[in-house]
Amino acid sequence: MKLAMIGFGQAGGKIVDRFLDYDDRTGSGIVRAAIAVNSAKADLMGLKNIPQENRVLIGQARVKGHGVGADNELGAEVAEEDIDEVQNAIDAIPTHEVDAFLVVAGMGGGTGSGGAPVLAKHLKRIYTIPVYGLGVLPGTDEGGIYTLNAARSFQTFVREVDNLMVFDNDSWRQTGESVEGGYEQINEEIVRRFGILFGAGEVGDGQEVAESVVDSSEIINTLSGGGVSTVGFASEEVDLNTGGGLLSRFTGDAGGDDNLDAANTTNRITSLVRKAALGRLTLPCEIEGTERALLVLAGPSEYLNRKGIERGRKWLEEETGSMEVRGGDYPREEPEVAAAILLSGVTNVPRIKRLQQVAIEAQDNIDDIQQESEENLEELVEDDEDELEPLF
Ligand code: GDP
Repeated sequence: MKLAMIGFGQAGGKIVDRFLDYDDRTGSGIVRAAIAVNSAKADLMGLKNIPQENRVLIGQARVKGHGVGADNELGAEVAEEDIDEVQNAIDAIPTHEVDAFLVVAGMGGGTGSGGAPVLAKHLKRIYTIPVYGLGVLPGTDEGGIYTLNAARSFQTFVREVDNLMVFDNDSWRQTGESVEGGYEQINEEIVRRFGILFGAGEVGDGQEVAESVVDSSEIINTLSGGGVSTVGFASEEVDLNTGGGLLSRFTGDAGGDDNLDAANTTNRITSLVRKAALGRLTLPCEIEGTERALLVLAGPSEYLNRKGIERGRKWLEEETGSMEVRGGDYPREEPEVAAAILLSGVTNVPRIKRLQQVAIEAQDNIDDIQQESEENLEELVEDDEDELEPLF
């Protein structure tokens, strides 16, 4: 599936930058165009792969290239004021060759948190292709203001996109890591999971196209209907079997071993599917009640079989209670078999409820503190008996 990716704010830009790197490394061909939008000039300069002409600085008149300082209302305002600048960059990309937009942002900050929903709304008004969001939740240790920003951005972003895929930094935080080093790893995890998922619908020329291969319309159908999505993933290393495996299967050289191989292959797939669904999701949630799901099995084609995928799909149907579970192959010559599961329309997400609670507390605290400091200032400035008068 070919995407036009727009990274909004620092996290968004870095993640899209990383997607380009992933595309380069794996030849997956999912990023048809990449744009970064930011109100902070330094963040745009720090990107490595996004072309200079696709880096858009907004809000210059208001914040002079210094960013909005975690004020997401200001982030939304400058995005609205300078939406034409963003549109100019989008005009320069071949949108007719694109299956969907993906707007990526960290929801805890200012520029991306406020700007990404504004851009999504704008894109949906102009284009007929789907507009998806990839929103990153802040770690719980980042503090009240980030939580409040994320809770408000989440509500708005979900409403403005065709589907919001969520990644929770909190579940992926590693102790003892520097923040930057931690993000490196987290961003790699993000592009790997979403790369396999979106890469599935993008089998290149000359690649083997099996009947059961995932098509981009299946990804789009799984995401249609809106709501919130999460992605599960599990992988296992395998030998790339250069020369032997594939050929021997066609010529029948492997003889009696073939049955054993088929059983192993099926078992490997079914256990990977379970691990992916029950392991760490990009957004932790209860998978029961998921509206739609897509199971993608990626790996060398000799390690993929229809029986395994079919069993995995059935099992997912039972676990989620969904009647709409799609599944298929993504043949690629990497020394691993991987299961990526897109769970779309999840509703039982305690993490979001907790985020909202903390956000409301933070909001109340901020109001109290502001009122108190206004009172304190008045007490300081005014003389006790009100005997002095200001000049004007
Ligand atoms: P903005 O530039 O004002 O949009 O704000 P940032 O993108 O810098 O930060 C928003 C939130 O994104 C932070 O609270 C972090 O939770 C998260 N974040 C920042 N950088 C990264 C990153 O490289 N990767 C990930 N996964 N999250 C990040």
